[in-house]
Amino acid sequence: MSSFAPPVQRLITELGKLPGIGGRTAQRLAFHLLRASQEDALALADAIREVKERIGLCEICFNLADGPRCRICTDERRDRGVICVVEEPGDVIPMERTHEFPGLYHVLGGALSPIDGVDPEDLKIAQLYARVEQADPPVREVVLATNPTTTGEATALHIADELRRRTPDVTVTRLASGLPVGADLEYADEVTLGRALAGRRSL
Ligand SMILES: [Zn+2]
Repeated sequence: MSSFAPPVQRLITELGKLPGIGGRTAQRLAFHLLRASQEDALALADAIREVKERIGLCEICFNLADGPRCRICTDERRDRGVICVVEEPGDVIPMERTHEFPGLYHVLGGALSPIDGVDPEDLKIAQLYARVEQADPPVREVVLATNPTTTGEATALHIADELRRRTPDVTVTRLASGLPVGADLEYADEVTLGRALAGRRSL
């Protein structure tokens, strides 16, 4: 039985559902909001409501969008022949920050993980195949930029196999794994160093 008034307990419960927020932190945040001005607290509530009402998924790439299509898909200057496949909408941001990628994206909404019950039909994988098959102008390359984790690698391999079968003319590439800029070989872990060696290129 909670010793808090029901509305306070409700707030703590809701805050506790956020990732990385344990019971104690949820309580601390709830008390912070109780102490905050009416204006500040309601601004947070409003921001949450607005984002849920106005932001959806782009009908082409499944990135976040405040309309039917995201800003990248509607940008005429983007190269429609290259599609970069990422796991989450948050992965588009670091890719864009590099200013190195001129193409479009495809956001899967996660990575394959049969143990956790995430199968191909739970992700936007079929939509990717349809998109590549029907693209006009045609897609030249699909860059698989899923995370270098067990599930991310499995997802990339799964998609690469299927794309080679369905659309053999499309080049399928994977982001290189390597050493962080400014790093010292001495301190690199063997997996990273091994990948960097396997992915070496001529100069
Ligand atoms: Zn889009």
